[in-house]
Amino acid sequence: MSIQPSTAAVRAGIASDLHHGAVVPPLHLSATFAFERFNKPRAYDYTRSGNPTRSHLADAIAELENGTSAVVTSTGMSAVALVLHLLRPGDTVLAAHDCYGGTQRLLRALAARGHFDLSFTDLTTSAGLDEIARCRPRLVWVETPSNPLLRITDIAAVAAVAHAVGSLLVVDNTFLSPALQRPLALGADLVVHSTTKYLNGHSDVVGGAVVAGDAAIGDELAWWGNALGVTGAPFDSYLTLRGLRTLHVRIRQHVENGEAIVAALRHHPMVAKLYYPGLATHIGHDVARRQQSGFGAMVSFEIAGGIAEVERFTSHLEHFTLAESLGGVESLIAHPATMTHSSMTPEARANAGITESLLRLSVGIEAAEDLIADLHQALDAAAQTRRLERNRQGRSVPTTDASGERHEGKPTRQDCASVVLLGAGSIARELIAQVAECTNGQSLRICGVVDRSGYVFDADGLPAVTLAELAAHKKSGRVLADFDIGSAATPVASVDWLTSRSLNDPILVDLTAADTAPLLETALRRGFDLVLANKVPLAGAQSVVDGVFVAAAVHGRRILSETTVGAGLPVIDTLRKLTESGDEVLSIEGCPSGTLGYLLGEVGRGVRFSAALQAAVAAGYTEPDPRVDLAGLDVARKALILARYIGYRGDLGDVLVESLVGEPLRDVSRAEFIDRLTELDDEWTARVRDARDRGEVLRYRARVTPHGAAVGLVGVSAADPLASSPAPRPPPSRS
Ligand code: PLP
Repeated sequence: MSIQPSTAAVRAGIASDLHHGAVVPPLHLSATFAFERFNKPRAYDYTRSGNPTRSHLADAIAELENGTSAVVTSTGMSAVALVLHLLRPGDTVLAAHDCYGGTQRLLRALAARGHFDLSFTDLTTSAGLDEIARCRPRLVWVETPSNPLLRITDIAAVAAVAHAVGSLLVVDNTFLSPALQRPLALGADLVVHSTTKYLNGHSDVVGGAVVAGDAAIGDELAWWGNALGVTGAPFDSYLTLRGLRTLHVRIRQHVENGEAIVAALRHHPMVAKLYYPGLATHIGHDVARRQQSGFGAMVSFEIAGGIAEVERFTSHLEHFTLAESLGGVESLIAHPATMTHSSMTPEARANAGITESLLRLSVGIEAAEDLIADLHQALDAAAQTRRLERNRQGRSVPTTDASGERHEGKPTRQDCASVVLLGAGSIARELIAQVAECTNGQSLRICGVVDRSGYVFDADGLPAVTLAELAAHKKSGRVLADFDIGSAATPVASVDWLTSRSLNDPILVDLTAADTAPLLETALRRGFDLVLANKVPLAGAQSVVDGVFVAAAVHGRRILSETTVGAGLPVIDTLRKLTESGDEVLSIEGCPSGTLGYLLGEVGRGVRFSAALQAAVAAGYTEPDPRVDLAGLDVARKALILARYIGYRGDLGDVLVESLVGEPLRDVSRAEFIDRLTELDDEWTARVRDARDRGEVLRYRARVTPHGAAVGLVGVSAADPLASSPAPRPPPSRS
């Protein structure tokens, strides 16, 4: 009769004592066992080679891991050492580059003495899989999830490649235990445990185990276990078996608590980055979901700030003990940079992604609400350090209190509308920088900024000094998730979370060039007004555009078009007002592109095309790749939106667009395009001269009717109002 693993764990060795009928198998401390008679040993003769108490534990672990046999060892490291005795000089070990530091130390030391050849690789990537095929190792060593960033390796994928080239696959399953992951069933040949961790679960024994899938390899390991003398002590085995009986209920509680803590930390402003395979944003999430039956209770995160915040946070914790190890019923916290990974060089730590702000939690089975309350109060304490530090660096802001008296400090929530910026590109940076410079902050307060990597948020408004740092951070090409108080999340998750905060008269300003329609609907539904500085959502499929306006109507929110940036949107707003007041618009002609207007204005004034475009790029006045502007798509979007206002029902693909990107430079890299711009100068000079000879200037014009829209380069009579409109100049560079 097959039984559930939890039953096997509880029942291991129960009622097996034939002598007295002891329900719990007795502890056999004896070092040696009497022979039955001359030359007739019993099942056990000497405890190093075999011991009944240790056998109960070994059998239980083998059964839980789906193996044929197990060797119980004195420590996790002796289990590692035992496996390495399967190797001969000339064999190669290919190990995961982020496997446990003690394993790495032993591997390097033995390889240095010629016991085997050694190589490390990132086995979470396909390049790592290629490396197995290339170096055809005898042993592949995997640890998943890894320590401390909880990276996930696809065991079945590694096993397939390893077996194809005749390698044995070893998986260190310490971080999950067989209650959550069974590597042998996924194709591994051997499983290693530090039973010190979840299997014993009470932090009162140091021990290890190796489980073999194949009986012959199991026998070889048992032989070496005895020969080396690394087998586990009976008393340790007794305690570990007692711990193992409750493995499944413990793990259930560990995981439940781990998930509750992740949910509580996920959007905490003092948590800059969160590592947990259960998060959909975790890079190994899909593999973890497939190969694990739970996401575990190890949670790592980067605290916003540095060592000062780490120190203040850890010293304020009451229910998390600062200690090495993991997997016990009690919660522990470790600071990898100064503890588990302190023997690595700072460069090696940086390469492995282990920063000095990183903390690792081993979540225990205490009441989750106590653990969460503890983390929150300690994070608050750390936040105070950070605020003090920032206040020292930043400027204070004069505000008026309830009595009308002015005082120094941040404006209160009630004073200001709360603004969330969607997008952090050049226009957003300009806005952020301007708000950062405006010290009174009475009516506008930026609480959140979202980009593709995540968000930065403070419900009380991001301080001016943070905004200035943010603008500089983004300008240097980095993402928000990397900002010291940034949180990693998808745009959908970021907007979902930010719009669920309690804010004052909230406004979402959409500054991205991406299609954000679903995000806009979320914001409208949650009571945000919208300011659109981005026409992409309105140029989407008609049904999607309708959805945004319906959401605004249903929830009584306003959609405004930004009137200080983007030349096309004020036109859209005017047009909407005209049509709403009953005017019939038959056609629209205009040059709705600030960038192309500037460029053609400069070229008309005799500036060489390459110089004008390079100046626009340098000023951040174009998209990062200026061909995006030159291709006319942006103008086409505006034209489509205008056309829809006057009755057109087509889509973007129906708009006729003339691209100004010269054919030979269409497919080259951006750098090459910028380098070779001068090749276009003569052609542009000739175009401008021809137009001038005809009494015209060149403009990139949109022509829109209820039946369609076309955008492209035209010569406009010098007397035409489109020609005389002054070309905007690029904003001053903010570098
Ligand atoms: N494997 C992993 C993943 C570990 O975390 C550890 C110890 O932390 C070991 C092996 C070594 O185990 P032990 O400390 O029991 O020797």
